[in-house]
Amino acid sequence: MKGVVGGGIAGLAAAYRLQQHGHDVQVFEASDQVGGLAAVYETAGDQIEKFYHHLSASEETIVDLIEELGLAENLEWPIGKNAYYWDGTVYPMDKPWEILAYPHMSVYDKFRLTMLTQEIDVRGGIPKFDTYENLEDFEDVPIEDFLREHTSHGVYEGFFEPLLDAKFGDRKDDVSAAWLLGRIKFRGERDLLRGEPLGYLEGGFGQLLDALVEAVGRENITTNARVTDLDIDDGEVSGMTVAVEDAATEEPKAEAPDGGTTTETHEVDDVVVAAMPNVLESLAGYECEIDFQGAVCALVTMDEALTDTYWLNVAHDAPFGALIEHTNYMPPENYGGDHLLYVASYIQDYDEDLWQMDENEIEDLWLGHVEEMFPDWDRSHVEQFRLAKNPRAAPIYERGYLDMVIPYDLADEVAEGLYYAGMASRAQYPERSLNGGIVAGYECADRIAGQKQVVSPE
Ligand SMILES: Cc1cc2nc3c(=O)[nH]c(=O)nc-3n(C[C@H](O)[C@H](O)[C@H](O)COP(=O)(O)OP(=O)(O)OC[C@H]3O[C@@H](n4cnc5c(N)ncnc54)[C@H](O)[C@@H]3O)c2cc1C
Repeated sequence: MKGVVGGGIAGLAAAYRLQQHGHDVQVFEASDQVGGLAAVYETAGDQIEKFYHHLSASEETIVDLIEELGLAENLEWPIGKNAYYWDGTVYPMDKPWEILAYPHMSVYDKFRLTMLTQEIDVRGGIPKFDTYENLEDFEDVPIEDFLREHTSHGVYEGFFEPLLDAKFGDRKDDVSAAWLLGRIKFRGERDLLRGEPLGYLEGGFGQLLDALVEAVGRENITTNARVTDLDIDDGEVSGMTVAVEDAATEEPKAEAPDGGTTTETHEVDDVVVAAMPNVLESLAGYECEIDFQGAVCALVTMDEALTDTYWLNVAHDAPFGALIEHTNYMPPENYGGDHLLYVASYIQDYDEDLWQMDENEIEDLWLGHVEEMFPDWDRSHVEQFRLAKNPRAAPIYERGYLDMVIPYDLADEVAEGLYYAGMASRAQYPERSLNGGIVAGYECADRIAGQKQVVSPE
């Protein structure tokens, strides 16, 4: 049997692909629901992700999977409006004339920014088209130095710096220019006159999780099941120990001393760890040096719209980095007529006030600040405020990141039969995503299938 640690999108994708290769699989998920970072809330209509989610046009594996699982007709590519909030004003940033009207960069700065986004190096007055082809050339270059040299001071200060502050806080100077260039490539083609189409599964990405669970088979997925140990004999993975809450299974078990939990052991010949690197470290001793940032994200249900913008970046001095009004992207009718707004912030350090505050304090702080930003709006429009926190929401893509990525196959580093598909894998660079999770799951499954002889169940 193949064991999968973690029932997020990566673990489910690994299990799905392993079964396609003809293997028996069992997925163990520590929490009471699958989905991990893509888990959902209920609304008055469709389900919605606890953390905002959409797809970029460059992400193909997830689109193929959506089609394979019969959900293609729910996949939509709406264009949500983007804007920048700066000193009390919302500046739309989609159409060429909107960008031209943005006052915090000169026309020259905008030209340099446009050239960079088209990956054209215009330094020295002669356009070069291959400067940014090899991202590794920029792996050790600090992002600020790169932008000041390859664009202009105005592009850095009037555009990127506040965005980097919001995304990486005081870690922004550690991030590499390769990451920024990778992000530029990662984004899909823009519609020049309207903006960037972003993919969404109408009804929520929860449907993709449900379809994967259905395809893998509920009997092959155990929730409330935390993998606590791996057995490694003679350099090979041979078994796993799982602490299962309130579960009845057929495997041999020993009553655990702490009530409500049963300890099971499973014989396995391969294990895919599809969880954060700290889980791999505790199970197999593999130390990963990548730092992670936490996310604090509220879903605010309102009886009317706050703005007409989908994605509002907030520059400077706000206790959050972005306001993401989901119902300016998908229609409010999908949610019983309610309007849904995400308020989101990343934290770099668990001592930060925001990480320490409780839900009521955050609600008060954030809604008070939204009221200050939009004086015509007040919190009487708020019907519900739900808060999600995750300590490892995204890696910090610091310089030298690719050297710290965890290999899919850990035979050389730890033991044969041990594979890694979590967020510190190569597929989750330059941006962690659902697509990256699926790719990582497939990469592990394909390596397992290629390495060992597959005995068909028939
Ligand atoms: C704020 C935010 C915004 C995002 N926006 C987008 C977006 O717009 N588009 C996009 O595509 N992606 C987005 N993502 C990223 C996307 O959600 C993740 O890349 C993806 O869900 C990661 O999946 P995963 O399976 O690798 O990890 P996870 O979802 O973290 O799943 C790991 C699972 O392993 C379980 N687990 C941990 N330890 C154990 C153990 N010992 N035993 C058993 N189970 C265990 C956990 O409970 C969890 O369910 C966003 C994420 C966040 C936080």
